[in-house]
Amino acid sequence: MKIPPGAPGLKMTETAISGLLVLPGGITAGSVVLDSQSGLIAAVRPGASEGERFPDPCLIFPGFIDLHVHAREDVSGAETHKECYATAGRAALAGGVTHYADMPNNPVPPVDEASYAAKLEIARRSPLPITLYAGIGPGTRPLKRRVPYKAYLGPSVGPLYFRSNAEVEETLAHYRGENVSFHCEDPEVLENRRGAASHEERRPPEAEISATALAIKMAERHDLAVKLCHYSTGAGLELVRRARRQGLRVALEAAPHHLFFDTSMLRPDNTRLLQMNPPLRSPRDRRALIEALRQGEVEHLASDHAPHTLAEKEKGMSGVPHLDTYGAFLTWLMEAEGFTPLQILRCACENPGRFLRPYLPAACGQGIGRIETGTRGDICVLDPRAPFTPRNEDMQTRCGWTPFAGMRFPGRVKAVWLGGARKV
Ligand SMILES: [Zn+2]
Repeated sequence: MKIPPGAPGLKMTETAISGLLVLPGGITAGSVVLDSQSGLIAAVRPGASEGERFPDPCLIFPGFIDLHVHAREDVSGAETHKECYATAGRAALAGGVTHYADMPNNPVPPVDEASYAAKLEIARRSPLPITLYAGIGPGTRPLKRRVPYKAYLGPSVGPLYFRSNAEVEETLAHYRGENVSFHCEDPEVLENRRGAASHEERRPPEAEISATALAIKMAERHDLAVKLCHYSTGAGLELVRRARRQGLRVALEAAPHHLFFDTSMLRPDNTRLLQMNPPLRSPRDRRALIEALRQGEVEHLASDHAPHTLAEKEKGMSGVPHLDTYGAFLTWLMEAEGFTPLQILRCACENPGRFLRPYLPAACGQGIGRIETGTRGDICVLDPRAPFTPRNEDMQTRCGWTPFAGMRFPGRVKAVWLGGARKV
């Protein structure tokens, strides 16, 4: 039954949805009222009520929040053949993602007030609210405004990478107290392995472990809150545990590709497509990450959406697109790995929402990532038992493919509201 906006008990701008709400305290049969005028959640009520109903087994989550996206659009426009804010936004909504944080490794990276403001202006083209990281590179300094930062330890796209650990230390000394996310691959280890036979061997686990030690040292020395991106090695987790026991602020992201694929699945016909940095790891590493995500030791499921075209992948570009399949991947975590809806809520909504809280615009009300009166009216309904087989031609990302093409997910995104307005 669909009751139109403005039905009895609702204002003209309000919509109600009922079903199983995934709330921090547990799953509750209830309804949520969204107001498209304020863009916020107007009420959360127990029990089914008026409005659109999503029967069991559908689950009503807050919109998902992805802390690691490469939307590729910047003032240069040099990479919009593979993605731009409009197409990344469509891919995000298709995947149930209603807010993401965009990485700074652009041809013209946002590293100071002027370049950050210029990228913010371009980012207004995004159909959904996003947060921009500012880049840290050799010789950069903190911005006056409050932003999350990203530092690349190891070569990446654009001019942001450091050539040595000494250069990293010299620069980070200026970022005291800031929130810095790290790409953890030690450039010196990578340099020593340049001649190895495969991509995976050229970027070994030791590179991540060594960079982890450096990031932790920086957290301690400069009072940084650090986040280690797309974490991939089980052995490195031990360093993080030790740092946390010392009271250091170290957060972790895991990406779908490191949780779903491992080196035992590489074949001649998929090694190029499944090339990424850090690379795929062993089945043991994959298991360790899944367990760490389940336990909450890895706080954030972040996609590292890297929309290179298939032609670019053939030439050896690293990275894979994920936004379109974010929600379907969550149903795989529930079905194949036994994640509970509350574990999903934590890594895909609550924790990333808390991370972004200091940077959100006023339009996000009392925050994102929780179904609560006054928070942003972003909702994603997952149907965990409606199998979905992604096809390249159906992807909204401009790069036009997915590493999951032809594979079967147990469920899919059923409906999405953004700021109180139905989008999917
Ligand atoms: Zn990345």
